[in-house]
Amino acid sequence: MNSLHLKSFARCKRKAWLDFKGKKSYEVWSPHKAIDKINQFQIFSEFCNSELYTGLKACENGYQGVIGLKIKGNLFQNINAEIRPQLLVKTKGKSKWGRYKYLPAVYKLGHKTTKEHLLDLAFSSMLLESFQESKIEKGLVISRFNKKINVEEIYLNKKLRKKVLNVLLSLNECFEGFMPEITQDRKKCTICSWQRFCDKEAKENGYLTDIDGIGSKTASLLITNGIFDTQILASYNEKQLGDKLSKFNDQKYEKASLFVKQAQAYISKEPYRIFNNDNNDLLEKTCSGFYIFDIESNPDHKHDFLYGFLKINNLFAKKEDLIYKPILNLKNNKGESYRKIIEILSSKKEWPVLHYGETEKIAIINIAKNLNLGFEEIDLLASRFIDLHTLIRKSWILPLKNYGLKTVSNWLGFEWMQKNVSGSKALYWWIQYQITENEKFLKKIIQYNKDDCLATLKIAEYLIKNQSKKN
Ligand code: SF4
Repeated sequence: MNSLHLKSFARCKRKAWLDFKGKKSYEVWSPHKAIDKINQFQIFSEFCNSELYTGLKACENGYQGVIGLKIKGNLFQNINAEIRPQLLVKTKGKSKWGRYKYLPAVYKLGHKTTKEHLLDLAFSSMLLESFQESKIEKGLVISRFNKKINVEEIYLNKKLRKKVLNVLLSLNECFEGFMPEITQDRKKCTICSWQRFCDKEAKENGYLTDIDGIGSKTASLLITNGIFDTQILASYNEKQLGDKLSKFNDQKYEKASLFVKQAQAYISKEPYRIFNNDNNDLLEKTCSGFYIFDIESNPDHKHDFLYGFLKINNLFAKKEDLIYKPILNLKNNKGESYRKIIEILSSKKEWPVLHYGETEKIAIINIAKNLNLGFEEIDLLASRFIDLHTLIRKSWILPLKNYGLKTVSNWLGFEWMQKNVSGSKALYWWIQYQITENEKFLKKIIQYNKDDCLATLKIAEYLIKNQSKKN
């Protein structure tokens, strides 16, 4: 077992087992993992003033930062372990290499220091101590906020070390047993490389967490009440279910009805129409033309690097006749790209702007404020935005696990030109572009964004075509 297994285990037992024993062909490359690695390298390099080297030789030479070292050892009960410290940082002390020693450090994305970080540091220190022949009192958690590097010191006390040993024992037991169950908290699955593999099994077994709106807590509550799977949920009486969902207070009957209908749609593969007036004038609003707008961004750097507009003069126009306009914001040079955006939007003042999710409208309001537009102008601009994600959720219960752009438009038959793409893949391409300045990455991002706009159009067409439909 190694530190990567331990890290996975702290997240999801099944993931650790799959990383160790799973069939690699079922695993899918994860852009999150790749982005994490790049960010990690950049921040470590900055933290060590570019004195970052690889392997054992780097320790012997006493460089400030060392990466890529693997240390094997025997921890207890003849269990072989291997640590792969993310970073070793040189500090004062005495070790087998001279008058210095190393401390383990980990990279943290976001604000919260988690169990994963603590276990990783403690595990690394345990093998590193005997390897460098020097005691380690603390480890470091390194992160970046607002372009500034933050370092948090973690004291690796006895209690934490004991905890690692216990977790390692459980990990060893886990490896010797059968594949663990799918985690209850399916939010963890969204960035996991085994997601496709686990999703298939969850669907086959009717997992309640496959139903939109049902998280781990609601699933446990339903199971306690004898509702073990989607099949039972789909045939449950809505009123009786509502009585059991008191945790939702006065929304309990509404929630119950949603869960039952969502489960019915999921099983029957048929959409269910919720009658709603909001959707009834989409055709009217869009009949004389509209824009579709979609943004690609790097949330960690608060940088929107691409704004994409699709101009639709009429809904029945051929796809080849649609004009797609990408506005790149390569250097986060807000003024120039902002003006271009407002220019496009002002050229057709009466046109609505369709988008999927809340990000686009928020971004436009911020752009307008940044350009010092007046209140009335901003209000008018904001009123043109129509969020199709909100609209579809209000008017349809779809036979789907979630209402993301990819899931909904794939269900409607839309396919992206590039295979296995996602917002994170676009972000990965963006980071690659920044490192290499190779235009091929920009082309990929632009193609991806154009397809996002076309996927949004597909959903708009569905809503309009079926707007007068009743169940
Ligand atoms: S997809 Fe989810 S359940 Fe499966 S291994 Fe990953 S985190 Fe665990």
